[in-house]
Amino acid sequence: MLSAARTRLILAIGVAALAALVGLLLGTELQVGLVMLVGAIAAVLIVAIGGDPAAPPPADALATEQEPALGEVIEAIAEPVLVIATTRVIAANAAARALLGAHILGEDVRLAIRHPAAAERLLDPAEDHSAAPIHLVGLGTREQRWEMRVRTLETSERVVHLVDRTGSYQADRMRVDFVANASHELRTPLASLLGYVETLADGAGEEPEIRARFLKIMHDEARRMDRLISDLISLSRIEAEKYRTPAESMSLGELIAQVCSELAGSPRAADLVTEIEAVPPVRGDRTQLSQLLHNLIGNAMKYGRAGTPVTVSLRSEGDTMVRFAVTDQGEGIPAEHIPRLTERFYRVDSGRSRSLGGTGLGLAIVKHVVERHRGRLDIASQVGIGTTVTVRLPIEQSVIKS
Ligand code: ADP
Repeated sequence: MLSAARTRLILAIGVAALAALVGLLLGTELQVGLVMLVGAIAAVLIVAIGGDPAAPPPADALATEQEPALGEVIEAIAEPVLVIATTRVIAANAAARALLGAHILGEDVRLAIRHPAAAERLLDPAEDHSAAPIHLVGLGTREQRWEMRVRTLETSERVVHLVDRTGSYQADRMRVDFVANASHELRTPLASLLGYVETLADGAGEEPEIRARFLKIMHDEARRMDRLISDLISLSRIEAEKYRTPAESMSLGELIAQVCSELAGSPRAADLVTEIEAVPPVRGDRTQLSQLLHNLIGNAMKYGRAGTPVTVSLRSEGDTMVRFAVTDQGEGIPAEHIPRLTERFYRVDSGRSRSLGGTGLGLAIVKHVVERHRGRLDIASQVGIGTTVTVRLPIEQSVIKS
């Protein structure tokens, strides 16, 4: 398509050429001169009236060009964005329409964002709308947490930007809960230790039998604290290495044999049954995989019935994975607990776990080790029959290729 300026230029040249032709046809010098003069003036006027194509467009032309651009700009933002003029919503992007409903366009902002704190902030003319964000609960689903930021434009419209903070809020809560739980878990044996120390200091230790009993309890409590601290350190190390893929080429068959020999002195060592097939090597972290095996076999021994087998099996699965599983014949785990077992300090029966020396961190460690090795963890259990925990890991060759 020709631009308006170019069209005007062609028209002007045409008028000048026509004037020259008419002048030539008329013949006398005066007439030629007059007609060419009129033609030239007409051509100049045509170009001049059209204006300078390089000059900026007038202000009102800009205003009409900006409107669709603003809509396009906010549409490109993934988070909900609204534009408000006085109290009315004049633009809303797809994310805002999805969150608050398609009807919000043209609506009063109090109806669009049905939240008292948000409405108060948006409708208060004295409010500095560029000030700190406010936090909203109850928009979208009940669990969602939003941060609302408002900016006032020079043209006095306000841009409302909603940022979903649900993820970071949950992460913060988990951190706070974790610190509270860890402190509680450490304080319990510590309180017991302090109590016995005071009792012994008060003279109760003079009787050798009582003294020996108290010292045994104190030793057990100190060991419990030690296990807890070791598990906390392991967990934080594994988390710190989360994004570093393990580099060592290793045989899981050999590692299982090594862990079983380390458990030879445990009370249920005789119940251990291994079904190990030859499998390709995996890329792994020896210390972490050894800890994973200790935790899973340890649980099967703790929660399985005495005298029943604890089976550790290893085999290939397809061309790319190896699968190892630990099966016990114990009380099993009710289905509603299974999704939460890998949470830190989650236990089905706290008293039982503690009396068996559990820290409540074993399966959380297992989960993090499996994730770091890009594997999969499955827990299957039947109440009254037993539990099988399965770990699938990619073989070394498939890790190198990916
Ligand atoms: P704990 O140190 O308490 O054993 P874990 O994180 O290893 O902590 O396990 C969490 C909980 O899962 C345990 O307290 C126990 O209730 C349950 N659990 C784990 N393994 C088994 C199993 N093999 N059989 C029955 N319950 C189990």
